[in-house]
Amino acid sequence: MKPTQPGRKAPETAFAKKAAALWPCAKGSLAWVRNRCGRPGCKRCASGEGHPALLYTFRKDGRQRAMSVRPELEGAMRKAIENGRALEALMVECGIATVRAGRARR
Ligand SMILES: [Zn+2]
Repeated sequence: MKPTQPGRKAPETAFAKKAAALWPCAKGSLAWVRNRCGRPGCKRCASGEGHPALLYTFRKDGRQRAMSVRPELEGAMRKAIENGRALEALMVECGIATVRAGRARR
């Protein structure tokens, strides 16, 4: 391995520090839906209001999945998804840096 210059962090150290700052992170999306309970005579369903529920949707093992989220976690989940997008952008930068490092070595 090439010795790192004094005062300059190894790229993996810089990455680990930036990635750790992006916790909690998540990939997927969050949306409010209106569920129907199916109970005859339910006023909320009859009015069209239904039963609001917060859903986290994501892909896992190639399949679309969803989990219901407690409403008090909405802010934390939105922040996690925002952090996840920043982490993806950081990984793109890692790919660019890896290609450039390979070019410089030749
Ligand atoms: Zn209902």
